[in-house]
Amino acid sequence: MIIAKLNETDCEGPECGKCAYVCPINMFTIRNDSVILTNPDYCKFCKKCLEVCPNAAITVQRVQGIICDY
Ligand code: SF4
Ligand code: SF4
Repeated sequence: MIIAKLNETDCEGPECGKCAYVCPINMFTIRNDSVILTNPDYCKFCKKCLEVCPNAAITVQRVQGIICDY
């Protein structure tokens, strides 16, 4: 399973928005004054967002097993 994460502290927001333009499955949404990552477990691990992000605000990693948030 691939999980993508967006560190909002490091993100420049809609003025950048590069990740939203390159992600082939539109996982990033520009909404008002922020960039939101939706359905992070749909990531295809193409790494295009990592290549364009100027602040390394995104991480994608392969994880094994079941993730429990509780
Ligand atoms: S690695 Fe590819 S599919 Fe995953 S979030 Fe980044 S651009 Fe989208
Ligand atoms: S490319 Fe990086 S800095 Fe730019 S909007 Fe996306 S997460 Fe934020």
